Amino acid sequence: MSLKDIIDYVKGQGATYCDIRKERWETTNLTLKDGEMEKVTSGNEEGAMVRVLYNNGWGNIGTSDLSSLKNAAERAISMAKNSNEYKKEKTGMADVETHEEEVEMPMEENFLDVSTEEKVSFLKDLEKKLEKDFVRSTELRYIDRLVDKEIATSDGTQVNMKIPRIVTYLIITGKSDTIQRASEGIGGTGGYELTDRAYEKKDVVLDRLETLLEAETPPSGKMSLIMDPHLTGVFSHEAFGHAAESDLVSTGNSCLEGKIGKKVASDIVTIKDDPTMDGYGSFPFDDEGTKARNRTLVKDGILNDFILDRENAWKLDMEANGGARAEDFRVKPLVRMSNTIMEPGDMEFDELVEEVDKGVYAKSSGGGQVNTGEGTFQFNAQEAYLIEDGEIIKPLRDVSFNGFTLQTLQNITGITKEMDTGIGHCGKGQTAAVTDGGGNVLISEVTVGGRE
Ligand SMILES: [Zn+2]
Repeated sequence: MSLKDIIDYVKGQGATYCDIRKERWETTNLTLKDGEMEKVTSGNEEGAMVRVLYNNGWGNIGTSDLSSLKNAAERAISMAKNSNEYKKEKTGMADVETHEEEVEMPMEENFLDVSTEEKVSFLKDLEKKLEKDFVRSTELRYIDRLVDKEIATSDGTQVNMKIPRIVTYLIITGKSDTIQRASEGIGGTGGYELTDRAYEKKDVVLDRLETLLEAETPPSGKMSLIMDPHLTGVFSHEAFGHAAESDLVSTGNSCLEGKIGKKVASDIVTIKDDPTMDGYGSFPFDDEGTKARNRTLVKDGILNDFILDRENAWKLDMEANGGARAEDFRVKPLVRMSNTIMEPGDMEFDELVEEVDKGVYAKSSGGGQVNTGEGTFQFNAQEAYLIEDGEIIKPLRDVSFNGFTLQTLQNITGITKEMDTGIGHCGKGQTAAVTDGGGNVLISEVTVGGRE
């Protein structure tokens, strides 16, 4: 049976809506730690998820047995009917344009044609180039994954897409009086050609570790802060972007609820989430088959849009914009970001530094936490420098900073023309490949402190 036949069958059972997402994955996953291959896995899997909406009740059944899709559909119908019995809240799916299309995202060099042995030697070669007297330990991870998806909906969408993603993680540690660590993920949507970028980035990671080993502990208190493009990206994704996810908005867990059309940032701030740009989080259609498009979340300081799947768009009476992503066929899609960027401004980096009497220039993310409901954040910088009287003075280590997201967005007083992006995996119960980035950003007042 084709997906369409099964959907017709489900519709015949009185379903309000139905979609089927069929996926085939081919992946290689390698970890090289201190010269030893710790992990070498390579393989493929396939499966599908059938989602059925019956009035207000959902049924989602994932299966890795593609010959029993009709059976999965029957179980999804009965689950949806059952769930509808107990559902008090109304729900629905916002209308979207339907599409019949096939899209293959390009690879210059197909990573499926590269042997595992060759990928292992790439990691070993890269490790050799990280041998320095100040490097104590290295960990290199390589992941490639080609996902072939077919999505059909009861509205008439039928799309097929191939999405290749590849990433290399470099993690190195060294020791002076404390242990310090520098890491970077490099890759994107594309083929084996993207491994070249790991060679280009290795010196950045080495320099960072060397600087950290001679760095001093930071001052604390309220001061000016310059975020480098990577931290700007992490701030835009973690502190702002998650709060712009419509499922958090519609359930009262976002500080942005009710603020569309209102000023949430300084006039120079524009933030977009764009799955159509070149990035690790790119895709042609989301996991509900909605065509991907750029979402301008903040335009010149005004909140303009949320990231919306069809159900939350229905709840919020907004337009769905391709915001549904699922980790794989076992799980239903959630509202997720893709490539989140704070648009560059019109300043030079030196001009930002000149404006700071006392403050910190923080580079690259070392993790942190956010509360999207309360609108608070705390981030760690991997690398940082003290700024005094408009000049960069000396390296600092263990720098963290925190504040209120909306207040901090209002306190942005300068953004550079120069921008960059970084890649990562966003966790929200499920993992999603994402890119984030922006310019160097000057914030006039942030609480800076050290960390243990
Ligand atoms: Zn995230």
